[in-house]
Amino acid sequence: MSNKQTKSDVILIGAGVMSATLGSLMKELAPEWEIKVFEKLGNSGAESSNEWNNAGTGHAALCELNYTSEKPDGSMDISKAIKVNEQFQVSRQFWSYLVKSDLIRRPQEFIMPMPHMSYVQGEKNVNFLKKRYEALVNNPLFQEMEFSDEPEKLREWMPLIMDGRSSDEPTAATKIDSGTDVNFGALTRLLFDHLKDNNVDVNYQHSVENLKQASDGSWEVKVRDTANDNIEHHNARFVFIGAGGKSLHLLQKSGIPEGKNIGGFPVSGLFMACSNPEVVEQHQAKVYGKAKVGAPPMSVPHLDTRYIGNKKTLLFGPFAGFSPKFLKAGSMFDLATSVKPDNLTTMIASGAKNIPLTKYLIKQVMQSKEQRMEELREFLPNAKSEDWELVTAGQRVQVIKDTEDSGKGTLQFGTEVVSADDGSIAALLGASPGASTAVQVMLDVLEQCFPQNMKEWEPKIKEMIPSYGVSLTENPELFREIHASTARALHLEEDQEHSLDIEEKVLEKV
Ligand SMILES: Cc1cc2nc3c(=O)[nH]c(=O)nc-3n(C[C@H](O)[C@H](O)[C@H](O)COP(=O)(O)OP(=O)(O)OC[C@H]3O[C@@H](n4cnc5c(N)ncnc54)[C@H](O)[C@@H]3O)c2cc1C
Repeated sequence: MSNKQTKSDVILIGAGVMSATLGSLMKELAPEWEIKVFEKLGNSGAESSNEWNNAGTGHAALCELNYTSEKPDGSMDISKAIKVNEQFQVSRQFWSYLVKSDLIRRPQEFIMPMPHMSYVQGEKNVNFLKKRYEALVNNPLFQEMEFSDEPEKLREWMPLIMDGRSSDEPTAATKIDSGTDVNFGALTRLLFDHLKDNNVDVNYQHSVENLKQASDGSWEVKVRDTANDNIEHHNARFVFIGAGGKSLHLLQKSGIPEGKNIGGFPVSGLFMACSNPEVVEQHQAKVYGKAKVGAPPMSVPHLDTRYIGNKKTLLFGPFAGFSPKFLKAGSMFDLATSVKPDNLTTMIASGAKNIPLTKYLIKQVMQSKEQRMEELREFLPNAKSEDWELVTAGQRVQVIKDTEDSGKGTLQFGTEVVSADDGSIAALLGASPGASTAVQVMLDVLEQCFPQNMKEWEPKIKEMIPSYGVSLTENPELFREIHASTARALHLEEDQEHSLDIEEKVLEKV
């Protein structure tokens, strides 16, 4: 057993996209701070942030139907869509700043232009999509959106999806070309390379086992070096728990009152990946459908063109499922050990409320490959079983808490920052919209935990993120400027040329 003990300003637990983003923001705002990272796996971006473990959608509400809902009076509520889009613009600006400042290079390794489309069938859904389109298209953030219910147009937009469909079935789609495919795994690794180059001490195979607040308000963090089974003790003024699904357990270990009465519900994900290059070549978009009745919002079916490891591929899913693990590399006891005396009634209430969801997830997990192919064929009528194989994606742990509106044990589908009153520790829980909004969420962590520094930091934040604190919806000129400049910095405007370039490389490989 070693007696290694250190003191630093900041400890980041977990090497996913959230810690990578917070560390990178801190390096710009307080370069003198000493930062340590502890990650239990052997590499960064290996859990949910990994490119095979999430869908890689730059969520900006351009195609995800669950970010808009119909109000009882029949009008469309687009407030969530605006919020998610504005948050993605914040991410684009920070990534552009890092590229322009030469802190990370080759943005094409992590972000690609990719048309985003929504596709629906049936009269009711077509009417919903049309109404959604009409509500969004007058907003500057969604101005480029197109709508069509003409089969010929849809065939042009998504030939693979329209192939084999009868033209008397009502169908419609919206399309917007300024969507993106983001490789969050590559982004996380680029950010950690940058942090390591700038004296951040990144420790892999180091699992955080416990946290305790010292009498001076700092945190004592107990860490196991899993390579040689040594225990180490590290102290920091501020701790960020960015442990993905495991954040809840560590938050509970911290004992802060803000972490009480919160539970977690794990939902696993599976994709079908297409292995036939001829089929892959016929699709160039992210196409989102409508969630089935009873399905949770994170299992909205979508067919995505992805570029992973310089190879173009197609993924369909995610199929939701149930596993008690809180991480892909987690333990079968994660769910059971997350139940504590303070969240017991919350968990029991949630269990009773969510019986239909649990049944749905168990049914999903029991599906055979052929049953999954049937779901895929609702999207791609001519899909052949031999062209598709199953890929296990990441685990999402949805937050369960008591709310005023919905009562005890309510399942939340968003991302939540839980921080101590004294600002000495914060944890990130939940997984949606997730990585796309990492920059805004980490700015929220800074605002909650370092209110005394915000005034001093504001000019630098505005240099990095010109829209900081400003609504882009209400400032269309600023939006257009920012959208154009970030597209240039992130190489998103070379659209056709760039995709062709990649496709040529892929064809060479095939
Ligand atoms: C199926 C699926 C699809 C998704 N699709 C999208 C999408 O299209 N777009 C999008 O924006 N988001 C998407 N997300 C969400 C997104 O992947 C997550 O929000 C994001 O990756 C979370 O990052 P993180 O850094 O919080 O967690 P993670 O990437 O999971 O990283 C947490 C890290 O903490 C480490 N860790 C855990 N416990 C400890 C410990 N005790 N000590 C040390 N280290 C520890 C883990 O090993 C891991 O490396 C999706 C997620 C899933 C599961």
